[in-house]
Formats: sequence, C-alpha cells, structure tokens
Amino acid sequence: MQQAILHLQNVTKQFSESTYPAVDNVSLTLQQGDVLGLLGPSGCGKTTLLRMIAGFERLESGTIEIGGQVVCNTSKYIPAEQRDIGVVFQDYALFPHLNVAENVAFGLRNISKQQIQKRVAEVIELVSLKGLEKRYPYELSGGQQQRVALARALAPQPQIMLLDEPLSNLDIQVRLRLREEVREILKAAGTSAIFVTHDQEEALAISDIVGVMQQGHLEQLGTPEEIYTHPASRFVAEFVTQANFLPARRQGNLWETEVGSFEIPVHHNNDTGEIMIRQEDLILKPTTDAPVVIRTRRFLGREYQYCLQTPSGKELHARTMTNTALPVGTKVQISIASDAVKVFPG
Ligand code: ATP
Repeated sequence: MQQAILHLQNVTKQFSESTYPAVDNVSLTLQQGDVLGLLGPSGCGKTTLLRMIAGFERLESGTIEIGGQVVCNTSKYIPAEQRDIGVVFQDYALFPHLNVAENVAFGLRNISKQQIQKRVAEVIELVSLKGLEKRYPYELSGGQQQRVALARALAPQPQIMLLDEPLSNLDIQVRLRLREEVREILKAAGTSAIFVTHDQEEALAISDIVGVMQQGHLEQLGTPEEIYTHPASRFVAEFVTQANFLPARRQGNLWETEVGSFEIPVHHNNDTGEIMIRQEDLILKPTTDAPVVIRTRRFLGREYQYCLQTPSGKELHARTMTNTALPVGTKVQISIASDAVKVFPG
C-alpha cells in the first residue's frame, strides 16, 4: 500500500502587502512515488505553495509534514537545506563555470569521491546525457540544460522533487518530448514529485494526481480522468477542458437551452443552471432551419475547430475529426451524448 510522503493541513500564506491570501487553507496529501501536477492560472498561488513546501517561505497557519515529520507550522520551521527536497526551476539555474558532471555532483555531500562518481554516472545515464559530462551549460540546448538541472536535483536522492514550470522555457517539440521523459525519469527514480504548470494538457499528461488551484484555493484534487470527466466546479471545467457553457432551464428530464433541449439523466435540485458541453462532445448536423451557424473553421491537422454562433450571439466551440468538413456559413443542429453533459448551478 502507498504511504503518504507529504501532507499539508489547512496551509495559508498571507503576504503583508496583499489583501487576500496567496495560498488559502490548502490541504492535500502526496503519496509515495506519485507525481502531483499543480495546475492553475498565473497568480493562483502555485509557486508560493511550492516555496513553503521547500522551506523558502514560512506560513501563517496550518501544518506541513514530510515523511510523517512536521517541518513547518506556526511554531516550528525546519530550514530548506534540512528538508531532503530537490528543486528544479523554470530557468535551469545551472552553474555556468561548472561542467555537466560537476553541476550534477554539486549537491552530493558526506560521501566518498568514488561514490560521488558512481552516483553522477547513474543519474547522467537516467536523464540520457551520457557522453556530455564534460560540456559546459553554454554548450547545451535548453532541453539538455533542463535535464542537467533534473539530474542535479535527483542526485542526492531527495524524498520529494519540486518542479516549478520546468518546461516553460523550451520550444513546443522539446517540451512535448521532455514531459514524457520527465515522468519516466521520476518514475524510474521512484521519487515523489510536485510539478507546477499552467498548461492543462501538460498537467493531465504528467500527473498521477492533479490539483487545480484558483486564487489561493485548491479547487479540486483528483486523477487526470476524474478532473477531466467530473470537474468539481465551473472554474475547473472551464480551465481544464475549455468547455462550452449554456444557460439552461429544466423541464422534467430535459434541459432547455437556446440551441435545443438536452436530456440529462442525473438528478439536480435546481431548475436553472448552466450546462457544460466539451468541445469534442458537440455533434454538428447540417440543417437548413437550425438555430446555430458556423462562423469560422480552423484546420488543426487531426481535427477541425469550429466557432459557432447561437441566436443570442453567444460563441460555442466544437472540435470534430477532419473527415467531416462543414463550410463556414452552414446552419447546424447540435446534439450531444447525454452522459457527456454536466449541469452547474447558474
Ligand atoms: P505564476 O504562474 O504566474 O508563477 P503562481 O500561481 O505561481 O503564478 P504565486 O507566484 O504563488 O502564483 O503568487 C500568488 C500571489 O501571491 C500573487 O498574487 C502574487 O502577486 C503574490 N505574491 C507572491 N510572492 C509575493 C511576495 N514575495 N510578496 C507579496 N506578494 C507576493
């Protein structure tokens, strides 16, 4: 059975300069060996939360436990260097005057020279940088530099790795490849990790568990599948899936909207609300007297993305496979698989 490696209980951080808390009453548990993706828009408190876990920032209230031991609460504060944590930042932060092997060896203390060499060789192999040991950071690509930063943080075998937007400075191809590799490297090392990102797809792809934050709050904690299929709030649905929302009124089992009525089997207390429809769940059927019209169509390779306009002027977005192309100006009837729809209180 998995064991908790990190536990946060009601953690709050209020900077004296601001009127609302940067981190507000956050509780979460990270299980041994899991990768937790912390996702949220700019300024929602992701970095502040990470800095408190690392020990670079104190808290106003709450408790942080690592490996069952309290490292921080209102009366106790164990400094960063004693917390057994590896940190990787967005800007690599390598030492420019040290080569790859020396950078990786930097955090290794209290072991023999031979053991250092062995460990450095191991992690360099793990991050696929064999042969580049003697290069200096300026002789490496961005992706390679980030792998060195990862190796340097992993070398002392920390209990937890904290990665703050480690891929944001890389171009898209490198970023996509490296996100797979980072997950594999963390899994191979058996290290528990928190990976901060504002990119939904990255969070879903890299994580065992995703935490979605907004304005200091942890809005939802769940597996990538849970977050995607059962968003706990409208914010999570909008931020994670970029879903459409339509005001709706209930008549029995049917929810009536300006573009048609949809049967939604789940029980709801409210008679009005907003129904959520993901872009890929909209089915478009050309119909001459239909209320919705295609305004734009973008070709994305495997899919088309349509922007549709409703009678009230609202925009809806739909994605369909490229084997069915509908021209701009087509009037379409909308349908949805009923189990793909969710209602949020309006
Ligand atoms: P980003 O994705 O842009 O890095 P973030 O989610 O990591 O954002 P934080 O950097 O944690 O967000 O910031 C959360 C809030 O706390 C913001 O409103 C920010 O302005 C504020 N904040 C962060 N650091 C400080 C500080 N040292 N002093 C005062 N306010 C701060």
